[in-house]
Amino acid sequence: MADRVIRISGVMKIILEREKCIGCGSCAAVCPKCFKMVEDGKSSLLNSQKDGQGNEVGECGEDCAKEAAEVCPVQVIKIE
Ligand code: SF4
Repeated sequence: MADRVIRISGVMKIILEREKCIGCGSCAAVCPKCFKMVEDGKSSLLNSQKDGQGNEVGECGEDCAKEAAEVCPVQVIKIE
C-alpha cells in the first residue's frame, strides 16, 4: 500500500536562517516542539546554537520539522 507521506525518522539537523525570517509564525504553529516565536518577532529553533552568521543550528526529532520547512514562505528552514 502506497504511503504518500514521506517520513523521516530519527533526529534531523536543522539550520534556521533567522535574519531572513519574516515572523509569519507558521513553523511554530506546525512544529511547536522545535520552533517558537520570540521577543523580536522571529522564530527561534529550540535546543540550538548560533553559528556566528545569524543562523541557529540544532536538532529536532519531530517529523513536523519537515513540515515547518515546507510551510516557511521564505524557505529559511533547512534540513540536513
Ligand atoms: S515559517 Fe519561516 S518566516 Fe515564518 S516564522 Fe518560521 S522561519 Fe520565520
